[in-house]
Amino acid sequence: MSNRYPHLFTPLDLGFTTLKNRVIMGSMHTGLEETKGGFERLAAYFAERARGQVGLIVTGGVAPNIPGRLQPIAGKLTNAKEMRQHQMITQAVHQEDGKICLQILHAGRYGYHPFSVAPSRIKSPITPFTPWKMTKRGIRRTIQAYARCAALAKEAGYDGVEIMGSEGYLINQFIVKHTNKRTDEWGGSYENRIKFPTEIVRSVREKVGEDFIVMYRLSMLDLIKDGSSWEEVIQLAKAIEAAGANIIGTGIGWHESRVPTIATMVPRSVFSDVTKKLMGEVNIPLITSNRINTPERANQLLAEGYADLVSMARPFLADPEIILKSMEGREDEINVCIACNQACLDHGFEGKLASCLVNPRACRETELNFVSTPQKKKIAVVGAGPAGLSASTGAAKCGHEVHLFERASEIGGQFNMAKQIPGKEEFYETIRYFKKQLEVTGVQVHLNTKADVEVLKDFDAVILATGVTPRDIQLPGQDHPKVLTYIDVLRHKKPVGNKVAVIGAGGVGFDVSEYLLHPEGQQEEPDREAFLQQWGIDLEVKTAGGLAAPVLAPPQREIYLLKRSKGKHGANLGKTTGWIHRRSLKMHNVHMIAEVQYQKVDDEGLHIIVNGESKVLDVDHVVICAGQVALKELYEPLKAQGVQVHLVGGAFEAKELDAKAAIKQATELVVGL
Ligand code: SF4
Repeated sequence: MSNRYPHLFTPLDLGFTTLKNRVIMGSMHTGLEETKGGFERLAAYFAERARGQVGLIVTGGVAPNIPGRLQPIAGKLTNAKEMRQHQMITQAVHQEDGKICLQILHAGRYGYHPFSVAPSRIKSPITPFTPWKMTKRGIRRTIQAYARCAALAKEAGYDGVEIMGSEGYLINQFIVKHTNKRTDEWGGSYENRIKFPTEIVRSVREKVGEDFIVMYRLSMLDLIKDGSSWEEVIQLAKAIEAAGANIIGTGIGWHESRVPTIATMVPRSVFSDVTKKLMGEVNIPLITSNRINTPERANQLLAEGYADLVSMARPFLADPEIILKSMEGREDEINVCIACNQACLDHGFEGKLASCLVNPRACRETELNFVSTPQKKKIAVVGAGPAGLSASTGAAKCGHEVHLFERASEIGGQFNMAKQIPGKEEFYETIRYFKKQLEVTGVQVHLNTKADVEVLKDFDAVILATGVTPRDIQLPGQDHPKVLTYIDVLRHKKPVGNKVAVIGAGGVGFDVSEYLLHPEGQQEEPDREAFLQQWGIDLEVKTAGGLAAPVLAPPQREIYLLKRSKGKHGANLGKTTGWIHRRSLKMHNVHMIAEVQYQKVDDEGLHIIVNGESKVLDVDHVVICAGQVALKELYEPLKAQGVQVHLVGGAFEAKELDAKAAIKQATELVVGL
């Protein structure tokens, strides 16, 4: 076993049970919980992570009663029938020598249904339903529901429960004044407001006995106005310990707070300072979390006393073997979570099953597998972007002989542009992962090679992952030196002046704008101080809730982000990250103009019509980010030669640059070849 991460691999003795290492797979809702046959699939999903040697798994949130559900059909655990379904999960995890806790989550006013309840009748800014105010009897019954749920979890074979006390759900709503306006014994003073969580922990402990893990996720940094002060956080932690919890986890931010807490522009482990601040205040282990995605960083946090345990959630979607690979000294084979949210959280909000952009097998463990083929084929893959890399490594994993042809001198395709966007530096990891995978799977890579029909015609199958080229928008004056494409800017690094018009407000337009707002020069990690200042985050928690006034470095350029269509800019960006990109550009005073008709470009600048009025934007450059077309000129000639040929990624569908769709499609193709 590798000894590079001694702190990570130190077992944790809780007295009645021992965790084999310091890594917890944090709670994530996958959507399988509410899918027909979902529990069998969940069992396979968790078992794969347990086999990957994680110390302890926490399930997605399960409601302790009907009003506590996040959505009308969301999972709950209230009776023996539901309990029996969970046995499938616990047995599968225990067979792999793993441990698993059930997370009990009452949504409170975040419930997306008309039966939601809360300490006070105050609507949240992120749900359309006004909650019902809980009666005193209702509060008592809810506490009992938590205890009953924990007892059922124990009966189902779970090793413990995690009580979700953060992220703005019901318990959090009791704790802060902002959402608790009660004047009875459950509101008013801080002692009264924290009675609800402490009574829950006490009741749960009484019901389940001593030999059962009770974890409590405590909101250490609310990131909302009038959130908890630091003194209150300490007081709550002590009260939770006294009530019988074994472990306290770190919660950062409410879902309604307007500060990014886990998206890709959040620097790695930036919020661990807050956990560290609480170390020594209680005598039970603390877990740190948020944007920890590599064993190096996790081990470093433990070594430097930031916490006793590290929680990683999405990194286990990206790679179920992250811990096993770390143990075996194969960390360069880890498929690192890039914190994009595109296939996990965004899917949750869109009512789709969760998966992972870099690992489309996540949550499809029973159906999408690289099975060794009885019929080895000789396969050519053309293009080493996201689709080509997934296709070639996937086909090689199935046992085929694979040749990957790439015109450029390096692999990565569009990833090489994406990694330069401030806040998207994690794409470096994906390129690094695939580079190693090409080696491990034995793909024969031909760089600086333009594959033609002559080269390709003798292969058993050809996969064209040749990508896209910018769409010609036929703008009069587009040959003017002021006009650039996003490829000129991001790949060819052509100089760009101080005043810029960006045509097209899709993902690429947003990325280019963000890129142009900052000084040139690549970084491999977002700037920590700049992030904290931009979003007004006070890690010292000098103000209740931890919010400070934002401070921004002056933008590098004045930017106009233009689009032809109506409506708000970036409406098609990811549900959980679009608002961040939009807000970031607004903070930097980007002019966002919709319903623009483009007239021409000349020495004066970009001529446009907006609301019937002609204008000239006297910009130094115009950057066109207005879509792309598929590059697939080899397709027909190869078919004419009788070659089995497939299109994947942008070559198949060029609407937006979409790495998620490209990787998924390529993986699905090769497992069926
Ligand atoms: Fe991480 Fe993105 Fe995968 Fe979610 S979709 S687990 S954020 S890489």
